[in-house]
Amino acid sequence: MELWYTEKQTDNYGITAKIRETLVTEKTDFQDLAIVDTVEFGRLLVLDGMVMTTEKDEFVYHEMVAHPALYTHPNPKHVLVVGGGDGGVIREIMKHPDVEKAVLVDIDGKVIEYSKKFLPSIACELDNPRVEVIVNDGYMHIHDHKNTYDVIMVDSTEPVGPAVELFSRGFYQGIYESLKEDGIFVAQTDNPWFKAELIQNVNRDVKEIFPIVRVYCANIPTYPSGLWTFTMGSKKYDPLQVDETKIPDIDTKYYTPRLHKAAFALPKFVEDLCK
Ligand code: SAM
Repeated sequence: MELWYTEKQTDNYGITAKIRETLVTEKTDFQDLAIVDTVEFGRLLVLDGMVMTTEKDEFVYHEMVAHPALYTHPNPKHVLVVGGGDGGVIREIMKHPDVEKAVLVDIDGKVIEYSKKFLPSIACELDNPRVEVIVNDGYMHIHDHKNTYDVIMVDSTEPVGPAVELFSRGFYQGIYESLKEDGIFVAQTDNPWFKAELIQNVNRDVKEIFPIVRVYCANIPTYPSGLWTFTMGSKKYDPLQVDETKIPDIDTKYYTPRLHKAAFALPKFVEDLCK
């Protein structure tokens, strides 16, 4: 008998993956959590029925959340990750030796616990001495930490459940105030095929708050539509002004110094969402 995990990406479309084994399923205080072992993409973390990360393609997303901002800011020492309980973005941040402290704030400690247990290749740096892990609402954390961070990365679930507020104008205002005077933030902002309005609204809100706003893309096969966007808001530094020849070649599988600027070249239909 074959077992398949299916994610409905819209009411009328989805993806499905053959499963070897279900490793854990639990209704946490915040969401339905599952980790399954798929034939094609290895172990897969699912929250409220949505693909969060897979062993096979996670590197694309985690590298592209972390490195464009960390190589745009000239001296990022204090970094915050909102969400990101699987640890993948933290792992990428640890590739930057000048970062003195990375704080991870995820609302659900069970995501952290099970990622450490079942996704060791992704969660491997959560116990790094430069990392502080806090179980809390990211919205609360940024309002309690003004003028604190050089870079803030929002690695949240989609705007449902506990993450709804993490796509609001008030949250981006809070991020602005939690950043230092030359800070940069980046958020995952979903896909242009099924969530065009979300991308438009976030872009509008962030442009009202930050002087520099840039959107970039990456290909993530297991995410809805496979085309993913990231929105960067910056108080001072422009990712397109970076001298990519000065970006070191670090241990990555997707991000490169050459890709740093290229990722900001958008397909026309995505560009039109960000006018
Ligand atoms: N890469 C995934 C994506 O793009 O959908 C996100 C993965 S990460 C596991 C998402 C995390 O956001 C989850 O662990 C969830 O608990 C966390 N989260 C959701 N709402 C949150 C909030 N208000 N504060 C902090 N973390 C939150």
